[in-house]
Amino acid sequence: MIIGHQQIIKQLQHAVDIDHVAGAYLFAGMSNVGKETVALYFAKSINCLDLVHRPCDNCLACHKINTSNHPDFQIVRPDGKQIKIDQIRQLQRQVVFQPIEGRRKLYIITEADRMNLEAANCLLKTLEEPPAKSVLILLTSHLDALLPTIRSRCQIISFQPLPISELVTILTDQFSLSADRAVSIATLSQGAFGKALALAEDKGPLGIDHIPEVVTTTDRLSAFRIAEQLGEDLAQLDQLVMWYRDLLIIRQSTSFELLTHRNHLESLQKIAKHYSRIHLQSAIKSIFETKKLIERNVNATLALEVLVFKLMRTE
Ligand SMILES: [Zn+2]
Repeated sequence: MIIGHQQIIKQLQHAVDIDHVAGAYLFAGMSNVGKETVALYFAKSINCLDLVHRPCDNCLACHKINTSNHPDFQIVRPDGKQIKIDQIRQLQRQVVFQPIEGRRKLYIITEADRMNLEAANCLLKTLEEPPAKSVLILLTSHLDALLPTIRSRCQIISFQPLPISELVTILTDQFSLSADRAVSIATLSQGAFGKALALAEDKGPLGIDHIPEVVTTTDRLSAFRIAEQLGEDLAQLDQLVMWYRDLLIIRQSTSFELLTHRNHLESLQKIAKHYSRIHLQSAIKSIFETKKLIERNVNATLALEVLVFKLMRTE
């Protein structure tokens, strides 16, 4: 079962049904939103042996794709931080041959924006004249980081995160989470279902259990030290969001049921007085933006220092 993206699945399924599959697709959308899951589903639909229910998830072809053992199916992932030209060359050597078992040769390239320039230019040749019985599916969470020439040669399919309220309903109804945990997880994941699922499966507490220093301090000299500590474990950024979210709830409502750190209510109420609603909203936004920057290999130290200065209150 795939949650969300029903319209996209319908569109891809239709292409398979009328045998009008494009040579290259580009799935774009935030990380963990479900691009790879849908790409895998699409790949199975194309090569599935059951002609009625594609993909059946039961036949030998589906099974081989699920376990990455299908001779006409391959996932190319970054080798270290980059997708290198050798990986693309290897793909190009294979893609020209007829499929061995399936209807088409299928390649999923994850994090396609991590192709270095050499690799991207090399792939361009295949995208310009894709072999008849091949399908390339490129995935990216940074569409604008891809060469325009690559983008223009693919059919772009854009993946949207689930609305938070819808995700909360799914987490409570289908995964039996309590309402407040579902809200915390849905907020933390920003509607990316894969991320939400990973958080839901991790039964531990969602956050650190003391109020982070950046929330309480007014000492701007400590900013560099705080930034350095954040850099040691970037998962702290997700947790930080939860603290600012709690402050925002306290600032704008009188109902505290949805607080993640209800055990710190009194202290948080005192702290919240020092922050405006706008500051708290933009703090949350800045944290998410900084995460994105760091994912895109921007100098993490500098990005975190800028962030901490933005987060700290001035008086
Ligand atoms: Zn099948």
